[in-house]
Amino acid sequence: MSNYDLVVIGGGSGGVRAARIAAGHGAKVAICEEFRYGGTCVIRGCVPKKMMVYAAHFSEDFEDSRHYGWNTTVNSFDWSRLIKNKDTEIDRLNGIYENLLSNAGVEILYGTASLIDANTVMLGDKKLNADKILIATGGSPFMPKVAGIEHAISSNEVFHLEQQPSSAIIVGGGYIAVEFAGIFNGIGTETTLLYRGPQILRGFDNDIRNHLSAEIVKKGIDLKLGTDVESIRLDSDGRKVVTLSNGSTKTVDCVLYATGRNPNVKSLKLENAGVELGKKGEVKVDKYSRTNVASIFAVGDVTDRIALTPVATMEGHAFADTFFGNNERFADHTNVPSAVFSQPPVSSIGLSAEQAREEFDKVDTYTSEFRILKHTITDNTERTLMKLIVNADTDVVIGAHMVGPDAAEIMQGIAIAIKAGATKADFDATVGIHPSTAEEFCTMRTKDAN
Ligand code: NDP
Repeated sequence: MSNYDLVVIGGGSGGVRAARIAAGHGAKVAICEEFRYGGTCVIRGCVPKKMMVYAAHFSEDFEDSRHYGWNTTVNSFDWSRLIKNKDTEIDRLNGIYENLLSNAGVEILYGTASLIDANTVMLGDKKLNADKILIATGGSPFMPKVAGIEHAISSNEVFHLEQQPSSAIIVGGGYIAVEFAGIFNGIGTETTLLYRGPQILRGFDNDIRNHLSAEIVKKGIDLKLGTDVESIRLDSDGRKVVTLSNGSTKTVDCVLYATGRNPNVKSLKLENAGVELGKKGEVKVDKYSRTNVASIFAVGDVTDRIALTPVATMEGHAFADTFFGNNERFADHTNVPSAVFSQPPVSSIGLSAEQAREEFDKVDTYTSEFRILKHTITDNTERTLMKLIVNADTDVVIGAHMVGPDAAEIMQGIAIAIKAGATKADFDATVGIHPSTAEEFCTMRTKDAN
């Protein structure tokens, strides 16, 4: 039996940050991981996805470049080269994560961990005795019960397809579905996006949703709203024959389900310690990431709070500071910015106009819709949308949203202003950087007609 101050289960963003910081505060820490260090974000999420987004956007860039004088001819796209280069970088990052941990003095362990009781973790044939245990096991794709679902893949497999599909159906209307629709469409796969509801990106500002939806259709994605899959079967060539809820069928090379993610708790045997779970199977925690069991804590996607990497690292860091660094603090889940790396990308912080109107009496909105300077001499018809939401009683900006190139890069700065409580007058008093797209956030003078 080995004794530790902290045993972390899960080597993703939240777990690794918590382990490193706790060790830095002087704790004796071990971390267990069943697959590879880095977690969803590094291994099969944000990082490889963003590389694919870059890859996909070149098709548009090549086309645009012709209007800037380049005689660009593009013949083909090599999927296997992209996957190989992406894998090389992921291997490098995996190594960096392990180095960070070992340099911090954390003991790195491999295997599937489970709980024996509130202070004991079983890892293979080893028992780890821990004063505190942190669950940071993340989530995994949810695949609904649909006839033939075994012929579909999830976002885990899409990063390792041997060949680029010539056609694909993507099911879902959230982050992953919209991002992969853009990736496949950009690299020349005939792409259909199926969403069961009336508009993609539920929860985002309605203008943003409608704008993105129109843009992706313009770029060639076959978007079918109010449509779901009835069944999937294979034809004699191994292609997927998908029967849709509207009665039609479509035959494609690949069906990708991006219908949400579930917390990874199955193998943990949390019941041995009496850890309480929520409706979706998530580990229930308070704002300090404490479970109902005094020695057990949880951070990241497994808690189903806000499933974003920087949120998980913030939670892990706050946990380590509070319980090992004598610095009591908790992760602030308000005004968390995020981006959907669709094409064009979406980025948002704060409330949508619809949420703001539910929360406040008087809300003003300011919207600007335009073609960016770069496209004024190309054939690219892409339009950008920027929107500010203001509490009219206090003048405080309570939401900012954008669909357009560099949305994530622009919104990070806007997010700082909003987090700091900037008013619309502060936005107006800020001098724009000219010529840029971002300056539009400082020049919106006319309120939208409500
Ligand atoms: P999301 O929760 O964003 O979206 C899931 C989508 O699947 C929704 O459109 C949902 O529809 C639909 N859906 C759910 N169940 C079914 C079903 N049974 N049949 C048909 N459709 C269904 O999940 P994702 O998988 O896209 O991503 C998971 C999380 O990961 C995100 O919420 C986000 O927090 C994070 N993420 C962040 C990224 C980023 O920051 N760029 C990128 C990727 C993921 P409905 O709206 O009707 O419920």
